[in-house]
Amino acid sequence: MKKAYLLEVFIEHQLQQLNRPFTYVYHGNTLPQKGIRVRVPFRQQSLIGYVTESKLIDDFDAYQVSSPYPILNITEIMDEKPILSRELLSLVDELASQQFSSKIGLLQAMLPPSLFPSKQSLRSPKVAYEEWLIFIKEPDINLLNSYQRNWWSLVKDLKKVRTNEIKSKAAIKFFIDQGLAKLEKVEKRRFDFKPLKVETKPTLSNDQKQVLNQINQSTNKIFLLEGVTGSGKTEIYLSLSEQVIQENKSVLMIVPEIALTPVMMSYYHQRFGEKVAILHSGLTPAEKFDEYRRILHGEVLVVVGARSAIFAPLENIGLIVLDEEHSETYKQDTPPYYHAREIALWRRQYHQSQLVMGTATPSLESRARAQKGLYQHLLLSKRIYDQALPTTTIIDMSQTKHLANVDSIFSQRLLDGISNRLLQKEQVIVLVNRRGFAQSIVCRQCEYRFTCPSCQVPLAFHAQINSLKCHYCDHLESLPTQCPSCQGHQLMKEGFGTEKVVSSLQRMFPEAKIARLDTDMTGVRTNVTQILKQFQEKKIDILVGTQMVAKGHDFPNVTLVGVMLADLGLHVPHYRAAERTFQLIAQVVGRTGRGTQPGEAIIQTTMPYHYAIQLGAKQDYAAFYDREMKERKLRQYPPFTFLARFELSSKDQDLVDEVALELQQSLKTQLDNIAEVIGPNIPYPEYYAGVYRRRILLKYKKYQLLHPILEMIYPLLLTKKTVKILLNVDPYDM
Ligand code: ADP
Ligand code: ZN
Repeated sequence: MKKAYLLEVFIEHQLQQLNRPFTYVYHGNTLPQKGIRVRVPFRQQSLIGYVTESKLIDDFDAYQVSSPYPILNITEIMDEKPILSRELLSLVDELASQQFSSKIGLLQAMLPPSLFPSKQSLRSPKVAYEEWLIFIKEPDINLLNSYQRNWWSLVKDLKKVRTNEIKSKAAIKFFIDQGLAKLEKVEKRRFDFKPLKVETKPTLSNDQKQVLNQINQSTNKIFLLEGVTGSGKTEIYLSLSEQVIQENKSVLMIVPEIALTPVMMSYYHQRFGEKVAILHSGLTPAEKFDEYRRILHGEVLVVVGARSAIFAPLENIGLIVLDEEHSETYKQDTPPYYHAREIALWRRQYHQSQLVMGTATPSLESRARAQKGLYQHLLLSKRIYDQALPTTTIIDMSQTKHLANVDSIFSQRLLDGISNRLLQKEQVIVLVNRRGFAQSIVCRQCEYRFTCPSCQVPLAFHAQINSLKCHYCDHLESLPTQCPSCQGHQLMKEGFGTEKVVSSLQRMFPEAKIARLDTDMTGVRTNVTQILKQFQEKKIDILVGTQMVAKGHDFPNVTLVGVMLADLGLHVPHYRAAERTFQLIAQVVGRTGRGTQPGEAIIQTTMPYHYAIQLGAKQDYAAFYDREMKERKLRQYPPFTFLARFELSSKDQDLVDEVALELQQSLKTQLDNIAEVIGPNIPYPEYYAGVYRRRILLKYKKYQLLHPILEMIYPLLLTKKTVKILLNVDPYDM
C-alpha cells in the first residue's frame, strides 16, 4: 500500500465553470497545508493552483483505480506557509458558500498580485532590498591617508548610511575591508509616503469625551456614530485607536475613497509613526506587495486603506473603523461581489473587536439596525466649537428671473457668492455630478444623436481632448464635424458637466485659480492628491468636481459650496435615488464653514420642493430618515426587504432572453413564498462589453430560506456554456 497526500486544488481560470476544486496527489513526506499555492498540470498547461483541502490516504493505488479520472501529480509546492491566515481562509469559505463568489476571485481581491494563485504572480514584484553600511568601529586616524580621512570625516557622525548615498565605491570597500562597517541588506519599502500637514492632537470637546465614554462603557461593541459634518469624528477614531494600541491590539481604518487615504494616513502617521501601513487598489503591485508583507510580518499596528483593505492580514484586531459608512463605494459591484461593511462585521465578530461606523448621513440599513439595537447608536449633533451649520439657499432654476442671464447655467446668486468669496480670499467648492463638457451631441437638422458603438448610449463631449467619450465603457472618438445621417454641420451640445462649468467660471472670473476634480483624472493617481493638496494650501480658489469633492474632506477656508443640477440623481429610476441625493447634498453642504468663518451653500435645481433636496440642504438626517423609511415600507424595499440580483449575459441576444425566461420560471416555482421574482429586466446599457445583458431581481425577507434553494440552483446555472450568470446579493445597482 502506498500512502500519499490528496489535495483539493482551485485553479486560476476565467471560466466560472471551474469554480470548483480539482484533485491532485502529492507523494512527498509532509502534508501540504491548506492555503498554499502549488503548480499543477492542467489541460496541457502548467498552472498555479490554490490548495483548499489536503489529507493523507493510506492506499493511493486503490484510490486511483476507483477514481473515474486519472489523478495527476502536482509539479511543485510554491509556498512554505499558507498565503492567508486561518481567519481569512475561513472568510473565503464563508463568502464562497454564502454569496456564491469564486474562491479564486476572492483570493485575487484579497492578495497583492505577487501572491495571487496565478501564473501572473511569477512575474510579479519580488522583495526589494537596499544596502546599508552599519558602522561598528572607529579607525585610528593617524593610520589613514588623507583620502581615507576625508571619507571618514563624512560618515563619522552617522550610525548607518545607505550605500547608494556614498559616491565613492573605494570608500565603501575601505570601510568594509578595515572592519569599520558591515554591510546589511534590508527589505525596502517601495511606498514613498510623504505625510501632509495635519492638525496636532486637540483637547477633546465635551461631546467627543461623552461619545468615547459611551463607547468604553458599552457591552455592544458595534457602533453607528452619527455625527454632523465637522463634528470631529476623525478625532474619535484616533483617540479610540490610541486606547486599542495601548492594549497591544491593532487597528483597521477604512475610508471610502483612495483620495481620502493621504490625509487619514497623515493623521495616523503623526500619532503612531512608522507603525502604519497603507493598502488600496491604487498602489503599484510592488508597493502593495511591500505593504502587505509589512502587515503580515507584524510590523504595523494600523492599516489605513480603501475598500479592499478590509481584507488586510492584520492579526489581533482591536478596532475596525468604517468612515463614511453610507458610501456606495464600499460595495464592490463587480465580481467578486462583497460589501466592506459586511466583511467588517464578520471580522469584528472573529476578533471580538470594536467596530465604529461613522457618518453624517447613515445608510438607511445601518440606521434601521441601530434602531433595532443591533448597533449602539451614538450622536454628535454639534460642530466643533459650536460652529453653526451653513446657511443654505435653494434656487429654482426653472424660473428665468433667477438666472444670471437667459441661457446661463448659473444663478445670479451663485455668481455673486463666488465673486464675494474671491474678494475675501476664501475658497469655493462647486459640485456638478457629471463629467465632461456636454452630456451629448445632437444634429440640429435631423436630431441624430451620437452614440457609443458598443453600448449604444449617448456619447458625452470632453472638450479637453476634443473627443466624444462613453461613460460606461470609456470608448473614445474624435469630435465629428458632420452628422453621419444627414451630413448637416450644425451639431448641438446638450447638457453640461464639470468641464463646461470650469470653462464658464474661468471666463467670468479670469483672475481666479480654478481646478477640476472628477474620475477623468484618476487615470494618473498623483493628479488627485496634487489637486487636493493645492486646494488645502489655498493655491486653488475654486474647486469644481463630481461627488469626489463632496465626501470627507476638511478644508477650513471653504465658505461657499455651490451645487448645480442638484436633482440629477432623482431622475434615475432607483429606490435609492432619494437617499443618494440626500446624502450627496448633505455631504457637500457639510464641506463649507468648517473653520472659523460661517459657511453658506447655494443649491441650484429644477426640483426645489423635493424632500431629498430640502432636507439635504438642512442636513436634517432625522427628518429624512423618517420620511424615507415610510416610503420604503410602502414599496417594500430595503431595509424592509433584501434584494439579490441575477445578471445574465451573452453574445447572443435571443439566447440570453431564452435563458432569462427559463431561469425566471424556475425561480418562480421554487421560490414561491420565499422571494418575489422581478423581471427579466433590461439594464442600462443593455449591450455592454460585447454582450447583451438581462437581470432578474429577487426580493426576500429571510436569506436563511433563500440560500438553500439558491445553493441548489446555482451549480446548474454554471453549466450554461454560452450564457454567463452571476449572482449579486445586496446589489447597489439594480
Ligand atoms: P467630521 O469628520 O465629523 O466631519 P472632522 O473630524 O474632520 O469632522 O473635524 C472637523 C474639524 O474639527 C477638523 O479640522 C478637526 O481638526 C477639528 N477638530 C476636531 N476635534 C477637535 C477638538 N477637540 N478641538 C479642536 N478642533 C477639533
Ligand atoms: Zn460604451
